[in-house]
Amino acid sequence: MKKEYRTIINDVALPYKWALGRTWTRFFDGLKEEKILGTKCLQCGKTFVPARSFCPDCFVSEMEWVEAAQEGTIVTWTLVDAEYDGQTRKPPYVIALVKLAGTDCCINHYVGGIDLSDLKKVRQKLKEGAKVKAVWSPDKKADIHDIAYFAPVR
Ligand SMILES: [Zn+2]
Repeated sequence: MKKEYRTIINDVALPYKWALGRTWTRFFDGLKEEKILGTKCLQCGKTFVPARSFCPDCFVSEMEWVEAAQEGTIVTWTLVDAEYDGQTRKPPYVIALVKLAGTDCCINHYVGGIDLSDLKKVRQKLKEGAKVKAVWSPDKKADIHDIAYFAPVR
């Protein structure tokens, strides 16, 4: 005879301390100085932002630090208009993958400086390939939110 087990619903909090290591510590320290730092692979020449300790294409750790451009293009984006657990912002907001000029990958961040009062208009106006630039938070804490958002360049 098969035993039936009951289940209960419970909330689990899982505080986590994440070691940033040498590379990400320097990357975040750069943000505090309004610099977006990346690393350039000495073998293939690709530049990565956020900085990487090794090239994800060549798997070599011979990288040099570079200061990336603060402007780039939106590769893809999404408009978040629904609430769910764990959000750091109240919807609506836009998140995008931004490819900074001269880099070979994307950074994921908010897009701000846009009118979110009419979401239909946002969906019509915001386009892949749109030029954006970093807007800095006035209070910096050496974390990703030192960049408040990327704003469209008009
Ligand atoms: Zn490489």
